[in-house]
Amino acid sequence: MGSLWHPFSDMGAVSANGEFVVSRGEGVYVYDTSGRRYLDATAGLWFANVGHGRAELADAAAAQMRSIAAYYTFGDVATPATIELADRIAAISPMPDTKVFFTSGGSDSIDSAVKLARRYWFELGRPDKRIVIGRTRAYHGTHIGGTALSGLEPNRAGWGSLMPDVSTVDGGSAKALLLEIERLGASNIAAFFCEPIIGAGGVYPPADGYLAEVRQICRDHSILFVADEVITGYGRIGGAWFASSRFALDPDMITTAKGLTSGYLPMGALLVAGAVAEPFYAGGTWFRHGYTYSGHATSAAVASANLDIVEREDLLSAAARLESTLDKELAVLASHPAVSEVRSGFGAVAAVQLADTTQVFPLIGHLRHHGVSTRAVGAGGLQISPPLTMTDTQVTELVDGFTAALADL
Ligand code: PLP
Repeated sequence: MGSLWHPFSDMGAVSANGEFVVSRGEGVYVYDTSGRRYLDATAGLWFANVGHGRAELADAAAAQMRSIAAYYTFGDVATPATIELADRIAAISPMPDTKVFFTSGGSDSIDSAVKLARRYWFELGRPDKRIVIGRTRAYHGTHIGGTALSGLEPNRAGWGSLMPDVSTVDGGSAKALLLEIERLGASNIAAFFCEPIIGAGGVYPPADGYLAEVRQICRDHSILFVADEVITGYGRIGGAWFASSRFALDPDMITTAKGLTSGYLPMGALLVAGAVAEPFYAGGTWFRHGYTYSGHATSAAVASANLDIVEREDLLSAAARLESTLDKELAVLASHPAVSEVRSGFGAVAAVQLADTTQVFPLIGHLRHHGVSTRAVGAGGLQISPPLTMTDTQVTELVDGFTAALADL
């Protein structure tokens, strides 16, 4: 065992059992160091929307690096690749007059949104509007703001005090949000953070009408609505670039990362509605926030080339097709006695829930044995979020792998 400390891992178990080392990827398949092939059921960590091994993304990176690999975007500085990408994201954003604030990943986007929400109200002369509200089961990354906002208790425990002025409400109940607003006072609340589909918390689609209701509650109480689309953004939701369009969320900010570059390089973006950006564009004030790699030129060039592929291959429609194929094909797994539920039906995301949560890691091992790579989500769930290029035949292959692995339990 070498020196690599794996995130979110029991390193005792990894040290004892060894690592799963992936050295190559092509389309919806990845290969380990001995050359064994696995169907990538998760698109890496929900990011490889265009699949693996796209030479044109490597070419885009090489061309940009030969020109200028990176500069910076503080003050009045930019690179053409960065400006072009911001305009392109604004053009596909569902929010009017979107401004694009670049980050290095999803956790950066979330903490940027927390700071911007608070600073927005401060600029409007309402410094008391500081509380940010998250939901049970929510995952908003691992920076301090996102950790404090998380609805996954084990992720929040043991760090001491995180960030003041945070609250968590029942993620399935609009009434719970309303009661919490009444308890805290809308005049003290800056923003509500909401994954349109709960992702890392276990893949839980929203209950009928929930999103429309919480959106309206926020509007009625002058609370900013932040859609966390780090997973759902850039096509995974099916039929649209963003889940915010599909669910008519009309958000004030959208946090993104992952599918922006399909993971070929790290990059995130906070999309901000023009009205929220306005105080910072009026002159005389700064958003004193940003990252060395905000708008990194090579990441931006790769992101633009990645969005080209999504458009050219119509992967928004492909995700819609995958939604219905996954929904139909995965249903057979629900009748297996070890499976308590299959959650699917919204975009190219799903979860197979095991009745006995202790069976998850053994099952992941059996799945690898049958040529499928997946991972645990929530409590006892298995993640399914394939590259949007996965064919219906490959979905059948995925389901066959699950059936064989379940039989090994
Ligand atoms: N928000 C959501 C909804 C996510 O799923 C994730 C990561 O999975 C994040 C934020 C954090 O993103 P990152 O791991 O790129 O920091």
